[in-house]
Amino acid sequence: MKIHEYQAKELLSSYGVPVPSGKVAMTADEAYEIAKTICPCVIKAQVHSGGRGKAGGVKIARTPEEARDIARTMLGMTLVTKQTGPEGKPVSCVLVGDAVEVEREYYLSITGDSVNAGLVLVVCADGGTEIEDLAKTRPEAIVQIPVSAIEGFRGYQGIRAAEVLRLDGENQKQLVSMLRAMTRLYLEKDCSLIEINPLVRTKDGNLMCLDAKINFDDNALFRHPDLAQLRDISQEDAKEYRASCSDLNYVSLDGDIGCLVNGAGLAMATMDIIRNFGGNPANFLDVGGSATTERVKAAFEILLSDGNVKAIFVNIFGGIMKCDIIAEGLVQATREMGVSIPIVVRLEGTNVDAGRRIINESGLSIISASDMADGARKAIQAAKGGRA
Ligand code: ADP
Ligand code: MG
Repeated sequence: MKIHEYQAKELLSSYGVPVPSGKVAMTADEAYEIAKTICPCVIKAQVHSGGRGKAGGVKIARTPEEARDIARTMLGMTLVTKQTGPEGKPVSCVLVGDAVEVEREYYLSITGDSVNAGLVLVVCADGGTEIEDLAKTRPEAIVQIPVSAIEGFRGYQGIRAAEVLRLDGENQKQLVSMLRAMTRLYLEKDCSLIEINPLVRTKDGNLMCLDAKINFDDNALFRHPDLAQLRDISQEDAKEYRASCSDLNYVSLDGDIGCLVNGAGLAMATMDIIRNFGGNPANFLDVGGSATTERVKAAFEILLSDGNVKAIFVNIFGGIMKCDIIAEGLVQATREMGVSIPIVVRLEGTNVDAGRRIINESGLSIISASDMADGARKAIQAAKGGRA
């Protein structure tokens, strides 16, 4: 789960990380009132995306009137950044914050590190720009410092980070205490990412967090009901949101073959085999081991709501799940929803014969596949034929 910058800053501040003073505004008049106490100020569109600066989502106001005008333009707009995709994200609030005089910008983040089974601090002396771009052009500028998830943060790791950022004296101390606080926050709140870009050295020589992004591990959110409330579904992909309501593991992609699969491993293999034969999957979808007719139906609805989907490939290996149950769900869903695009089905495993019989006797024009490769080829071919 992602949260907005202003929420991330409140959380960081509660752990002792210095952030500019500021408040969130839902209306232009609220922005005006806040700006009366902070001027000059920065008006920042609150969307779950970076790259706002370059997209016109970060603007300086010299007077409260200017702040009101800027907020009025930003509120209600759809901000398209390099990270949002062409559909953009709606702006329903803006952060009105202190305009800080910046001397230098740095990059700082903490995330999980599967290689070392712990955490990793990622630091770079050139912040502000998108780290993804820098990773391509000058990867050597980005330094990773592993941190144990059991022992937590150690002072020497902070000193190493300060070395990379070429910070010393008071700034080194500030960085170490900032990293200690961030690591504690990361572990206590079950984060998957804390990213500060830019961390800045201000003209008066202090370190401060100017932008903040925090992501949480969805699987641990049940331990943090207060954080779960910060979810803003207006910022999420509508299809992914619907999938999460039906307990489906779904990730939206931009291809034209909808995939309905049981098991995450098989779902990934399905995407791979489609790509292998030159096709493009429209999504990752794992309906889980205990798919009911309802779930299969919900999954179909989501796939069909994607205008790009030209064919659906159902790839089921019945282990715990029985093929006849899946076939039943499939036939029911197809009938009730009047599916008008080709459906290719590959069924294997427990009760496969009964499952195939249900499909064959349904009278529906479902294309059956003998194995995964056959299914992928047929789905690609069906997608080329377009909607029936
Ligand atoms: P994004 O990463 O979405 O582009 P940022 O919050 O990083 O948004 O803002 C982009 C740039 O705007 C920053 O690199 C910084 O130069 C400037 N900026 C952001 N917040 C402030 C602020 N409070 N005071 C002064 N400049 C700011
Ligand atoms: Mg930023």
